[in-house]
Amino acid sequence: MRKTLVVLSALLFALLIGNKLFNKTELPSRLRIATGGESGVYYAYGNAFAGILEKRMNIPVITIPSGGSVENIHLLRNGRADIAFVQNDIMIYAYEGINIFSTEGPFKDFSAASGLYPEICQIVARRDIDGIPELKGKRVSVGDEGSGTELNALQILGAYGMSYADIDVDHLSFGASVSAFKEGKIDAFFCTAGVPTPAISDLTADGQVRLLSVGDAHARSLISQYPFYSRQTIPRDTYPGVDDETKTVAVKAVLVVSNGLSEQVVSGLLKILFEAREEIAKTSADADNLAPESAVDGLPIPLHRGAEKYFFGN
Ligand code: GLU
Repeated sequence: MRKTLVVLSALLFALLIGNKLFNKTELPSRLRIATGGESGVYYAYGNAFAGILEKRMNIPVITIPSGGSVENIHLLRNGRADIAFVQNDIMIYAYEGINIFSTEGPFKDFSAASGLYPEICQIVARRDIDGIPELKGKRVSVGDEGSGTELNALQILGAYGMSYADIDVDHLSFGASVSAFKEGKIDAFFCTAGVPTPAISDLTADGQVRLLSVGDAHARSLISQYPFYSRQTIPRDTYPGVDDETKTVAVKAVLVVSNGLSEQVVSGLLKILFEAREEIAKTSADADNLAPESAVDGLPIPLHRGAEKYFFGN
């Protein structure tokens, strides 16, 4: 009996402490975070964040694996996720109902919570493939179904005057791309993710791969057509066995939330996120990029009112 009382009071104490950021009546019964494929950064980052949120909020926080940004938008739109990781380019297309979302129309019922880290458009190829034009006739994975990676692949190929008609297309997750590459079933794959991407590090060590560059003129025309890209360089030695720097383009990973979440919940979960930066970085090094200044920089859709409160105090 005494033991039960001790356990019960400890539980009550934990509940009170854990929920002090939140008014209990406003807490949802659970939170669902749409992440990505199991070998990607969204998945690792999302799971680390979910574990911390669950402890601090005392509610179940479930992570949903997915194909990536495009599927995550659909999960939010269908009410099957409350929080999601998405690329900044994909989120504006969804918000405005343009590009790949033109048949579905605009989706305005979500907002930005925080910019997270740059996602680099990486093109991993067999060592003997010397540049993007040489992908012609090759077997190439353009990213998973429902990924943002696939749109980046299409647009980058487009900047070189190429399309799916020029390559033998596969839709594989990052993990499946690495396996297929190792087995010689594909010659190259696209991967838009935080760098270094663990799936790619896994592959480069034996020196049999190269990262293809996006040339200056091609990058310029891509950015002028799609302003959500920025120019980025992957420094040499980012990956074992890749000795040269790689000039390419990048987008940005953004944490977005359903407008159904309250101001208090969103500002509270951002407080938890920023406080847990170092802890998340143990699982996903990209959490080191989290900083209030860059978090609200260049976000193409409105901030959630809870994020306004967290970042600007009103
Ligand atoms: N940005 C990628 C996409 O939406 C996913 C990246 C990841 O899983 O880390 O295709």
